[in-house]
Amino acid sequence: MFLKRIEIKGFKSFADRLHIDFNPGITTVVGPNGSGKSNISDSIRWVLGEQSARSLRGARMEDVIFSGSDTRRGLNIAEVTLVLDNEGGGLPYEYSEISVTRRLYRSGESEYLLNRTKCRRKDIIDLFMDSGMGKESFSIIGQGRVEEVLNSRPEERRAMFEEASGVLKYKQRKQEAERKFESTEANLHRVKDILHELN
Ligand code: ATP
Repeated sequence: MFLKRIEIKGFKSFADRLHIDFNPGITTVVGPNGSGKSNISDSIRWVLGEQSARSLRGARMEDVIFSGSDTRRGLNIAEVTLVLDNEGGGLPYEYSEISVTRRLYRSGESEYLLNRTKCRRKDIIDLFMDSGMGKESFSIIGQGRVEEVLNSRPEERRAMFEEASGVLKYKQRKQEAERKFESTEANLHRVKDILHELN
């Protein structure tokens, strides 16, 4: 699996539709300070389901929408699509090419699409979990992240190892199952109470 193309429109400094094609091997993005290099990696994390505006270097999620410049008015939609080559079947999805899109409207409404069909954020998270490309993965190492890893507390470091080793998926499923179990148990108690009242 590799990232073939990014299509950006209205995300941060990229007002016009922009296509960035990647070839196998190393791609380097160079440009002056403030020209938008980090906005490209932000756009990738955003599509993969990032929900923290702060980690995308904004205050609110709407800050990812192009806010205007000296010569241009702001836009009302941000849209980013990642096109991935899945010939090797790295992602558990039967298509050889997979596109993942995220849209955000200024009204706050958000949409995710998988191969141009609407889906839930959870579908995207599940698709990339354990692929090494999830939003919490180590495929994107931001400025200051190495230092953060070295200075993190043991339990935070453990969470990183869990993600890297693929354990996180099962841990999350276990938590989900435990939540369902607790709510079922609460319902059962309620039914018992009602039966008791009736007797
Ligand atoms: P450096 O080399 O200094 O790290 P960079 O090339 O990585 O810089 P970015 O941090 O990606 O640059 O881009 C910052 C630019 O993006 C700033 O000029 C900022 O005004 C612009 N920008 C960020 N969010 C928006 C937005 N919502 N609308 C318009 N422009 C934005």
